Amino acid sequence: MSTLTLPAIIDMEILGRCDLRCPFCWGPRHEKPDTNIPALLNLIRSFPEYGVESIVITGGEPALIKDLPEVLRTAKEECKLKTVLSTNGLRFAKRLDEIAPFLDWVALPLDAATLEVNRKMRVGDPRQFQIVQDLIPLIRDRYPRLGIKLGTVVCKINKHDILPMIDLIKERCKPDVWKLYQVSYSVYAEDNREQLELSDEEFDDLYKRVNILAGQYNIVLAAYTRAERDGKHLFFTPEGNAMVIAQGQETLIGNFYEDINRVARIWSEFVRTDRLVTNFDRTYPIKRSQPLAKSH
Ligand code: SF4
Repeated sequence: MSTLTLPAIIDMEILGRCDLRCPFCWGPRHEKPDTNIPALLNLIRSFPEYGVESIVITGGEPALIKDLPEVLRTAKEECKLKTVLSTNGLRFAKRLDEIAPFLDWVALPLDAATLEVNRKMRVGDPRQFQIVQDLIPLIRDRYPRLGIKLGTVVCKINKHDILPMIDLIKERCKPDVWKLYQVSYSVYAEDNREQLELSDEEFDDLYKRVNILAGQYNIVLAAYTRAERDGKHLFFTPEGNAMVIAQGQETLIGNFYEDINRVARIWSEFVRTDRLVTNFDRTYPIKRSQPLAKSH
């Protein structure tokens, strides 16, 4: 193993393209070129040497990438990494059998109790609402070992439709973890801030009320606030850049493809391993195969 290390978990935004246009999106701009897949495969192959244990593949919509199964196979089978895929569900539903064998967890979004509100959140394809609800029992049936996280972004558009989601979740599509995300104002969410604005107090109050109901139905609930973003992630962007959140701002600290050792030397100035690992373990409670090596 290299004497230099990277965090145990890396969030990999491998493209900006998406088949939806969510107003709160804080992924990369959709017009960015996809990452270079051969370079990505080489990068993933180097991760075990740097102590990386898990990757979260995200975007954009990763299921638009033809070679996604190969990316995940390389991570899981060759490199023995834990793999999480964050997908809006539309293409994933069609490619389930190609992709699911190489996953530990899938993160799916559902943002409302009603089609009417969900389509204002997940703009571009109203079928997304039903597809995700159908996917969960299908995954349970075909891939019972696959963990399912349901993510809900909470903002001004859907705040009144969050509590009623309990019925939907407890009856039909109970995930292993349901996570509420307070909207964060970066990228598209910054452009659309006025229509999204949700105060800390509103989010806290809503979370408390949902948590009481979730407890009654044994739904595992987690929350992610705007203020918590700092120091919790090391992102890979489609260009290969290493990005952190520092004082609420997305900040580039190097490039994985050009100089991975530079990234490995400085990431710990911006990312706290305890915060990163706690966030990951609460979201995707995977049994670890090895103890955490480092404390930063
Ligand atoms: S939030 Fe996700 S599904 Fe929505 S536009 Fe962004 S990448 Fe696509």
